[in-house]
Amino acid sequence: MSVRLEEYEAIVGRDVIEELRVVAERVAGRRLQNINSTPVGGGVAEILTRLVPLLRELGVDATWDVIKGDEAFFATTKAFHNALHGAPEEITGEMLECYRETTALNLELMQFTGDIVWIHDPQPAGLIARKKEIGGRWVWRCHIDLSAPDPRVWDFLRPYVEAYDASIFSMPDFAQQLSIPQYMVTPSIDPLADKNRELPEEQVRAVVDKHGLDPERPIVTQISRFDRLKDPLGVIAAYRLAKRQQDCQLLLAGGGAPDDPEGMEVLREVQEAAADDRDIHVLLLPPQSDLEINALVRGSTVVMQKSIKEGFGLTVSEALWKGKPVIGGAVGGIRVQVINGLTGYLVHSPEGAARRLVRLLADPELCRQLGENGRLHVKQNFLLTRHVKDYLLVMLALEHPEESLVFLN
Ligand code: UDP
Repeated sequence: MSVRLEEYEAIVGRDVIEELRVVAERVAGRRLQNINSTPVGGGVAEILTRLVPLLRELGVDATWDVIKGDEAFFATTKAFHNALHGAPEEITGEMLECYRETTALNLELMQFTGDIVWIHDPQPAGLIARKKEIGGRWVWRCHIDLSAPDPRVWDFLRPYVEAYDASIFSMPDFAQQLSIPQYMVTPSIDPLADKNRELPEEQVRAVVDKHGLDPERPIVTQISRFDRLKDPLGVIAAYRLAKRQQDCQLLLAGGGAPDDPEGMEVLREVQEAAADDRDIHVLLLPPQSDLEINALVRGSTVVMQKSIKEGFGLTVSEALWKGKPVIGGAVGGIRVQVINGLTGYLVHSPEGAARRLVRLLADPELCRQLGENGRLHVKQNFLLTRHVKDYLLVMLALEHPEESLVFLN
């Protein structure tokens, strides 16, 4: 997929692109090796798919590698993920051992090619063990909400993390007491990706029809991996309550990710909960369903992201960018995207979500206004060009570790 920087000019303006070029010049030619745990599924893969080509176009030699792991490893790291989000999980000594063993295996398999090694999330964090031997600068980029981590998992990971040169978190709330510098970078969406670009009305209509949704009646949608922290059952509960007052259909669409072994189990729970209602549509999407997801969101009246915990929640910006009001759980990064009463509503329960849903479904003009605000909010804060600039600045800062001010010329 080729990305052309000039194409962003029409959306973000010439100055933003010029500024990117100026900063990029200072780190041009650096080899930036990204390493994560899945090539598809979930927000990290979504971001890297677009960020890496754009960095390359700016002259940074950015690459992307994925660690290997078996079912036991990904069950372990999913338990870590949930526990770091503060959810109750049993963490056993065997799990910690499994993490160490898979890390050792990947230390053998991985070719380290970066001047800067950019490790995403806990799954590959242990690769830091090779830093002393191969050198370079190492950054741990954490995409999850670490505001209340289970101490057992965090204490296990912390020594790995503190061996990095720097860390990056998505929100100030997620920052930790660490002996290394911490940078704050919020994630972003790509307005030109198939997931987000403008689509003709007929295409939206065709996708809505294809999935048996009635375009003449309101559609409430949540797009998410089938994951308990995304609270799909809470969305169904909210829909059922709202439907007593406002007619609507519910669409729960999502796929799995190779590093998320719980998906199929949660999907079954959702299918069971939805079984008696023909207005609830549960879609299991294959990877690369970007145009389909784009069309489904555009065909929706209201988008939900009723997460119980959330690192950022790209799906929120994806919906706001399409002018859709979002009802989101008042957690993690959703709180910086959904500005209560301006771009959507923040909720704490299925009942609260239902109340907001009834209000929105009754008032198309309110939906339009919140959606318009939402698009502007995303344009100003959560587009890929801002994200690329932040990463370039972190790269630059890494080369000036003792300086609080770096001059660009
Ligand atoms: N997504 C997708 N297919 C799906 C479900 C989700 O492409 O079946 C995308 C979604 O549009 C978003 C990303 O995966 O771009 C999910 O990122 P988010 O930050 O919302 O949540 P995560 O899955 O990383 O917890």
